[in-house]
Amino acid sequence: MRVQVAIIGSGPAGLLLGQLLHLAGIDAVIVEQRSKEYVLGRIRAGVLEQCMVDMMERAQIAGRLRAEGLVHEGIEILFGGERHRIDLQGLSGKHVTVYGQTEVTRDLMDARAAAGAKSVYEADNVTVHGFDGKRPVVRYRKEGAAHEIECDFIAGCDGFHGVCRPSVPQSAITEHERVYAFGWLGVLADVPPVSEELIYVSHERGFALCSMRSRTRSRYYIQCELDDKVENWPDQLFWAELARRLDDRARSRLVTGPSLEKSIAPLRSYVAEPMRFGRLLLAGDAAHIVPPTGAKGLNLAASDVHYLSNALIEYYRSGKTSALDAYSGQCLRRVWQAVRFSWWMTNLLHLFPENGSFGRKIQCAEFDYLMNSRAAGTSLAENYVGLPY
Ligand SMILES: Cc1cc2nc3c(=O)[nH]c(=O)nc-3n(C[C@H](O)[C@H](O)[C@H](O)COP(=O)(O)OP(=O)(O)OC[C@H]3O[C@@H](n4cnc5c(N)ncnc54)[C@H](O)[C@@H]3O)c2cc1C
Repeated sequence: MRVQVAIIGSGPAGLLLGQLLHLAGIDAVIVEQRSKEYVLGRIRAGVLEQCMVDMMERAQIAGRLRAEGLVHEGIEILFGGERHRIDLQGLSGKHVTVYGQTEVTRDLMDARAAAGAKSVYEADNVTVHGFDGKRPVVRYRKEGAAHEIECDFIAGCDGFHGVCRPSVPQSAITEHERVYAFGWLGVLADVPPVSEELIYVSHERGFALCSMRSRTRSRYYIQCELDDKVENWPDQLFWAELARRLDDRARSRLVTGPSLEKSIAPLRSYVAEPMRFGRLLLAGDAAHIVPPTGAKGLNLAASDVHYLSNALIEYYRSGKTSALDAYSGQCLRRVWQAVRFSWWMTNLLHLFPENGSFGRKIQCAEFDYLMNSRAAGTSLAENYVGLPY
């Protein structure tokens, strides 16, 4: 097969890039190692920045998002038993939209199928070659047969555990990482959310988050040990521990039910620099990971795709490489802002026993400042709704 762009990975980054390139008349294929059903079954993010919603509009797939997405104009923080609302709309002039990553993925997959765009699912042993020259090649196996795709560019949208980043020589890449000593135990359940808006909880037993995917489907998280196991957390125990970390108001409204999904996610801040290696361009989790506290992972994948799609479109329209040359620098500037914000939210709200009473007092002072300073609230709001592209 010969295409202009070979996209590795059919997560939100790969699918969104595929759709934008398709609309611009650029010939691209998506090569994904998993099945379509597996990709759709993954429960992940759910808070979209306004810029990401705008990207969905640009990609002409925002119909269902417009009808079903929940506009949130604020978030609540419950810190040491005291609640404080951050008025996102009032402080930043913008809001966020709650719409599950699974739904974004489904909308993009449906658009791709309707357009008859090329996709290869269940591709084994995907490898990328020749991206330091002019004729990169992607190889994979499917149903026992070997396949090869010649292309102009490879878009590495294959997530943190993908093949693209490790294919770059070690000497060409710099990695920055912080691994946190805890994880998030998450439960998805068909129960109405405990509150209209998300509640971020800092409690002496650990962090909790009351989130949602719709008016009838809730997503809850509690901070847990990194080596904890889902099997240690039957539903009843999870709901009891979550209730302990809430205030009376939330506790009285908490509706429990059987979990549809339960998983433990480690928390990590990670950035690989640069994001371009000749004709291989990384986007999304393939290049960076943030702890989910700032709701930024999916949104960063979208902002990378914004820059990458524009750069490729400019290249194919005019032959100019200036936007491709600027790609890595432009992305990384925004990436580091989101890494900082996610790290800051994580530090403010989680239990860090190793930081002792000094660490807790600093958290209290930070929260006090947040409650009483419009400037501090505005800073949180403007980062939470997303910095402009
Ligand atoms: C458990 C979990 C929970 C999360 N929760 C949140 C949250 O609450 N809020 C938030 O903002 N973010 C969250 N995130 C992060 C967010 O989901 C990601 O940032 C987002 O999925 C990034 O999209 P992506 O397309 O870059 O990568 P991915 O979604 O990881 O997609 C990469 C794709 O590449 C495929 N792939 C991998 N290796 C290969 C290969 N060798 N060959 C071919 N294909 C390959 C994968 O199967 C996958 O389909 C969560 C992530 C995880 C893992």
